[in-house]
Amino acid sequence: MVKVKVDRELCIACGTCYSICPDVYESDDEGKSRIVAKYLKEQSDKYSIGEVGKELEKCARDGAESCAVEAIEVT
Ligand code: SF4
Repeated sequence: MVKVKVDRELCIACGTCYSICPDVYESDDEGKSRIVAKYLKEQSDKYSIGEVGKELEKCARDGAESCAVEAIEVT
């Protein structure tokens, strides 16, 4: 499994990650990114943390690399 963590304080709600990889990321009510419900493990004002299978690793990484403020970690 691959861990994906969105720092929601860093996120500027640009929408790029969830446009590139909607299988892993989605918009909340404010346009900030969070992990889609299916893979979500932990959610707070500060972080959205999930786990995805290997088949979604590239998608998750592409989304993370697209983030201009480096708010997403994939490990
Ligand atoms: S690409 Fe980064 S700043 Fe833009 S919505 Fe995603 S996490 Fe937020």
